Amino acid sequence: MSGPSERAASLEAGYTRTHRAYEWAGIAFAGWCLYGAALQLVELDDVHAGHWTGAILLALAFADLVSGLAHWAFDTWGGLDTPVVGKLAIRTFRHHHVDPKAITRHDFVETNGHNAMLSIVLSAPVAHAADAMPSFLALFLGFAALFVATTSQLHKWAHMDRPPAVVRVMQRLGLVLGPEAHAVHHTAPHEGAYCVTTGWMNLLLDRSRFFRVAERIITKLTGAVPRASE
Ligand SMILES: [Zn+2]
Ligand SMILES: [Zn+2]
Repeated sequence: MSGPSERAASLEAGYTRTHRAYEWAGIAFAGWCLYGAALQLVELDDVHAGHWTGAILLALAFADLVSGLAHWAFDTWGGLDTPVVGKLAIRTFRHHHVDPKAITRHDFVETNGHNAMLSIVLSAPVAHAADAMPSFLALFLGFAALFVATTSQLHKWAHMDRPPAVVRVMQRLGLVLGPEAHAVHHTAPHEGAYCVTTGWMNLLLDRSRFFRVAERIITKLTGAVPRASE
């Protein structure tokens, strides 16, 4: 049986050139769509500061919730041989549990490429059809795209011994995920604190035992057994 370092090395070896190209494409397309969305949002003339603040807070909570749902799903179900998401996402989550500090050694592209790609489903509609939707919805989608795209960076900073000073201040204020709150996820029994954007939704999801109920329902419907995290 292989030890943790061999498993970490084997999971890290799954980072292929094709995956790297996919991440570069994600950064390029997401950057283009976010820029297009920003151009649309600054043109909105029927919104005031309250709309901007409300949209930003709601988008932060939404991105945090999405991060928690995705993280739980990839930690709990499937494996490296699962079609599409096995190599695209599950590998990195499994690697992260075997070697949590590895994320701090990932460069900008490896850290952000995948989430950037996902953010396009939120930013593209704003970039191309902001005037066909309510202004608040356009604001919300634009910021939700931004925060989904930056979630892995926030997760990385929560693992760094010395994140940038401004980030440490935001972590201390609870505006973004902090190292102490996230350490709960990397401590046995690894059954909570899945949200990694701001961590705001963890209290609600963990106290309500949302994921345990979801696991029981999925097991009942499919027979699949949730995987114990390490
Ligand atoms: Zn995890
Ligand atoms: Zn982590």
